[in-house]
Amino acid sequence: MNVGSTRGGVADLPLADALLRGTAPDGGLFVPARLPRGEVRAPRDPSLGAAAVAVLSPFFVGERLEPALPAMVAEAFSFPAPLVPLRGPDDFVLELFHGPTAAFKDFGARFLAACVQRLQPAGGRPRTVLVATSGDTGAAVAAAFHRMPGVRVVVLYPDGRVSPRQAHQLGAFGDNVTALRVAGTFDDSQRMVKAAFADPGLAPLQLTSANSISLGRLLPQLGYHAHAAWISGTTLNLVVPTGNLGNALAAVWAREIGAPLGDIVLATNANPTLSEFWASGVYRGRPSVATLANAMDVGDPSNFERMVWTFPDPPVLRSALRARAVSDADITRTIQEGERRHGQVFCPHTAAGVHVLEQLRADGATGAWAVAATAHPAKFESTVEPLVGHPVAVPPALSELLARPSRAEPLAADPFALRHWLLDHAAG
Ligand SMILES: *Cc1c(COP(=O)(O)O)cnc(C)c1O
Repeated sequence: MNVGSTRGGVADLPLADALLRGTAPDGGLFVPARLPRGEVRAPRDPSLGAAAVAVLSPFFVGERLEPALPAMVAEAFSFPAPLVPLRGPDDFVLELFHGPTAAFKDFGARFLAACVQRLQPAGGRPRTVLVATSGDTGAAVAAAFHRMPGVRVVVLYPDGRVSPRQAHQLGAFGDNVTALRVAGTFDDSQRMVKAAFADPGLAPLQLTSANSISLGRLLPQLGYHAHAAWISGTTLNLVVPTGNLGNALAAVWAREIGAPLGDIVLATNANPTLSEFWASGVYRGRPSVATLANAMDVGDPSNFERMVWTFPDPPVLRSALRARAVSDADITRTIQEGERRHGQVFCPHTAAGVHVLEQLRADGATGAWAVAATAHPAKFESTVEPLVGHPVAVPPALSELLARPSRAEPLAADPFALRHWLLDHAAG
């Protein structure tokens, strides 16, 4: 299926083009030519991989990568996404953190890597995957492209503004992955990366985007939402902790194309843009505020544009979803009481979602509900451990990474500094 742009300025591009570029040439976001509404049925095979192939197939019909889809899914979906019961009847968490970097972004990053690998001709000019991260994205992308022939990865992160474990993780890959610690904020890093993509002098580097608005990261995320709904044996309602609206949009698209998902409720942190929009109908993007759920510190979510493309009629958009903002105080309390109430330790992002589920139940919500558990709590140990009063066991993949030496190069918060670094270190 071809792709177009949310702004209508381009149409009928091959999906492969969208997989290799971040934003559409008209400045909008890539979207499929159409959403295959209601067209997808549950596969007979109940596995996560079969669900992912079923939901991804319509988007790959007639595309260069269509024959490779099952193999790409096998590579990306190589760890489970279990629906785990909480103590309350019909309350679940959808655990999305069993991948190599212990956050849901592993699914999307690994699928994108599987696509890029197949779109990169053997012996062709090397590609540079360039990404700015506030923590989780960079690690997932680095892990996914680590040691891939013909590909180099450059990750920019704001020095001193990611957790010590996140910083260690980013510098621990080595080989074809370089971590650059930028003397500035995340916004500086993002501005530098945007400038590099717009710079014709860097065209020979074949810069490739892997940021969270990449269609190659978004589409695979439909797979685990659809799978959860199918294995639940009922209509599954979802609470999705949200920052840039990527994971939540994937849930909405999964419902649109036919997965038996019911209500979808967004849980944000104290950044109020989305809860305000769904309460009032007025969208007002603004600078983000820092919270305990830092991967959701977004004041102007990029994927809102795709949400509007999905539901162009404002009343329909407003009735398709709900959103609730959760304060740091409520995140804190939910982590503190998580083991007693639900038998689980939650990361701060998941805790925001669990708090919303508790509110919905108190308001009388019925039926089966799952909260998307977006990261393992051990990734945010400096927040979580003091609240639960004991250490949180680190999953094996994460502890292996943390045991490796870590190295990052310093870089000034200046687009020219990045330009020079990239040209000086041009691969091959
Ligand atoms: C990225 C991230 C989020 C937010 O996901 P979006 O797709 O940007 O809404 C939530 N939780 C964790 C742990 C994340 O890494």
